[in-house]
Amino acid sequence: MAKKLPTVLLRAGEDRRVRAGHPWAFSNEILMDAETKALAPGTLATLRAPGGEALGLVTFNPHSLIAARLLSSNPEATVDALFIGRRFAQAAALRDRLVGVPYYRLIHAEADGLPGLIVDRFGDAFVVQANSAGMEALTPILLEALEAEFSPSTIVLKNDSPVRELEGLKREVVTAKGEVGSLELIENEARFVADLSGGQKTGWFYDQRDNRRFMAGLAKDANVLDVYSYSGGFGVLAAHRGAKSVVCIDRSQAALDSARQAAALNGVDKIVGFEKAEAFEALEKQKSRGFDVVICDPPAFVKSRKDLKTGAQGYRKLVRLAAPLVARGGFFFVASCSHLVDPPLFAEQVRRGLRDAERNGRILLSSGAALDHPVHPGLPETAYLKALVLQLD
Ligand code: SAH
Repeated sequence: MAKKLPTVLLRAGEDRRVRAGHPWAFSNEILMDAETKALAPGTLATLRAPGGEALGLVTFNPHSLIAARLLSSNPEATVDALFIGRRFAQAAALRDRLVGVPYYRLIHAEADGLPGLIVDRFGDAFVVQANSAGMEALTPILLEALEAEFSPSTIVLKNDSPVRELEGLKREVVTAKGEVGSLELIENEARFVADLSGGQKTGWFYDQRDNRRFMAGLAKDANVLDVYSYSGGFGVLAAHRGAKSVVCIDRSQAALDSARQAAALNGVDKIVGFEKAEAFEALEKQKSRGFDVVICDPPAFVKSRKDLKTGAQGYRKLVRLAAPLVARGGFFFVASCSHLVDPPLFAEQVRRGLRDAERNGRILLSSGAALDHPVHPGLPETAYLKALVLQLD
């Protein structure tokens, strides 16, 4: 018999959303008596409706706004390495079908039934981000399940995301298994380099995989400018697919070093050039105004609600500075990974930036993250990535 879990009780009238399929309960919806408040962050608990009916099994953090996160709608479930392993196996089966090579986001949090958890896979190396107290507490079991399912060579706990602070967790990077450094990955049939411990986020941004392919498809014989290039996911692929010239701009030397290595691995080092610079300054200084393809994939300009207004205007400015560099009839890609900027607001900033630059054109594609970043149906707002591709006149 599994030991009895503590109860977390919803306040009167607050069970409706969870019953409707939402995977979270917020702290103000929960009866925070002394006993509940005293539960250790990350505790497994039974979530109960005001009448006492068990609604499911949650991880609970009394100190977080998102206090309860649904782990299973079966309140009797036993959360052990087998339970987690089944979710890993299911997620891997989906990715194997969607992506076909073992380089993908394996676990995308709630959408894969593991709230607050991110796992990116690089062959037999895995990068884990536990972004909730629940996943932090479950880490030993997660590691056991990873071991059982995949026999990894390397596991990095890349727990340095600022969101951990909202859960009262410290930011740290820990190598749980193996040797960590740069490794090679395959994406869109090209070779790239990711630095798993020193790189940004998990080391690679798999979310742009499909957008990179789409843009590379437009880049044959083209002169391409890839701004905020990171390790060359867009620019090096464009060169691999036949671009005439590519300029990658980023302010991180480490990112550009990986991009340079990727260019060499794909035999396009003569095609791709690199510029370490601040993006806005580099755009203002660009002499060439005739790029056939311009790609702008910046970091999140809006990190908190209080900088929504000024941050959102950053996208307008980016478009104002980048659009003039696009040749007539050329293509312009611009993305936002700020989850607080919704698609209409993003489209509005892009429209304004085009007006500022006195450029017209047409939207060819409005897209988001690649399919290995699924979205929980109850959390449509977690679809954070927005991308627009335009042809400019
Ligand atoms: N396009 C990339 C991902 C971009 S991530 C890909 O396909 O993988 C955002 C990148 O912007 C990071 O590499 C970061 O180093 C860079 N960056 C952030 N602020 C910048 C700035 N002000 N100027 C230039 N690059 C910047």
